[in-house]
Amino acid sequence: MTDDFRARVRDWLAANVPDSSEDAPAEELIATAKRFQAALHDAGLAGITWPSQFGGQGRSAAEQQIFDEEAAAHELPTGVFLIGLGMCGPTLVDLGSTEQKARYVRPLLRGEEIWCQLFSEPGAGSDVASLQTRAVRDGDSWVVNGQKVWTSGAQWSDHGALLARTNPDQPKHKGLTMFVVDMHAPGVTVRPLRDMTGRAPFNEVYFDDVRLPADAVLGEVDAGWFAAVTMLGHERVSIGGSVRRRYDPLAYHNLVELARTRNRLDDPLVRDGLAALYTAERALSLFNARLRQEADAGSPPGARGSVAKLAGAELLWQAVHVAGLIAGLDAAAWDPGSAEGDELAVAINATPASSIAGGTDQVQRNIIGDRILGLPRDPVADRDIPFRELRVGTQA
Ligand SMILES: Cc1cc2nc3c(=O)[nH]c(=O)nc-3n(C[C@H](O)[C@H](O)[C@H](O)COP(=O)(O)OP(=O)(O)OC[C@H]3O[C@@H](n4cnc5c(N)ncnc54)[C@H](O)[C@@H]3O)c2cc1C
Repeated sequence: MTDDFRARVRDWLAANVPDSSEDAPAEELIATAKRFQAALHDAGLAGITWPSQFGGQGRSAAEQQIFDEEAAAHELPTGVFLIGLGMCGPTLVDLGSTEQKARYVRPLLRGEEIWCQLFSEPGAGSDVASLQTRAVRDGDSWVVNGQKVWTSGAQWSDHGALLARTNPDQPKHKGLTMFVVDMHAPGVTVRPLRDMTGRAPFNEVYFDDVRLPADAVLGEVDAGWFAAVTMLGHERVSIGGSVRRRYDPLAYHNLVELARTRNRLDDPLVRDGLAALYTAERALSLFNARLRQEADAGSPPGARGSVAKLAGAELLWQAVHVAGLIAGLDAAAWDPGSAEGDELAVAINATPASSIAGGTDQVQRNIIGDRILGLPRDPVADRDIPFRELRVGTQA
């Protein structure tokens, strides 16, 4: 049964994954991604574990694992859907009203609509409950004002999951609400930010008197912290749980190839680093497979998602170290004319972000210490004080 599924996935991917061309204009890449995701859905391979009444396949975590293992051999063009499929979609399935699920889940699975996550603000990253973007009730609508930052993919997105403050008289965790926001609505301004790889993967997003309908609330009014924690749980599993892709220049498989082409395979330090990397990749992949099986059996990963997220970031740093052993100074300063080098340099320069995006390494360690190891909690002095009385961000 699973062998049949594996064969079907393998054949379908071999026949349908388009040739990648990183140099194509963004609009073309997105059009390709949308076509591919729709075809994936038509083939019954999108939303493998998602409920069938909303367009998913209602299959098992084991089948999802098989799909991921087979997909790792290809460069799928679906990066723009990662936040929607990994985080917003699962949160909609968990907390959305029947109408919201019917409206949003299928188009998301078919790649017809792109989503982003609007949590972080200039004064609210690790401590996202300090956010200042406000949503004020006005008749049948909500009116949103404020600024978000580091919003990945906002420039391509149709919808965002927005966390906003709806009750400043409550303590900071209690007066938040999550909304579904139309990114094309009047008053939404998106400004790309460039990172040190030279790309602009994320953005600042400004909300100026943006009107949202009453049914834009995702979950309950003033229960946005619960919705945020739900989404962050999905985020950690989605980031930490991703199977290492064979085209990733920092994957074990490609670093072995790099060592071979540079005649570095006989160096004992390189061999040692590669062996340790292989072991760490395998261990993380088995840990993730176990998290999935347990989730399938009704035991969600909870704080163990932070273990996967932290281990995923540490694995990348380990790979950067091995790349340095193989390539020496070239790992830091490649010849821009070399396609192989350029790709590796971009991957190395993108690695520090993996220790920040989706919650920093330090914050994951706090969660693991507190919720898994039973260590004393981080002291929080402002947990019970009404938000209005706190001095955070620009709030004097
Ligand atoms: C590539 C990338 C993509 C991102 N995409 C999105 C997105 O799509 N949507 C979105 O909403 N956000 C996004 N973010 C933002 C990300 O979630 C935040 O950057 C992250 O939560 C850290 O917040 P901060 O940058 O404000 O740092 P801060 O919270 O100011 O932290 C600064 C330093 O202090 C440490 N620190 C803070 N609090 C503690 C503590 N209690 N204990 C120990 N150490 C602590 C941190 O670990 C860090 O080293 C993205 C970030 C990156 C890098």
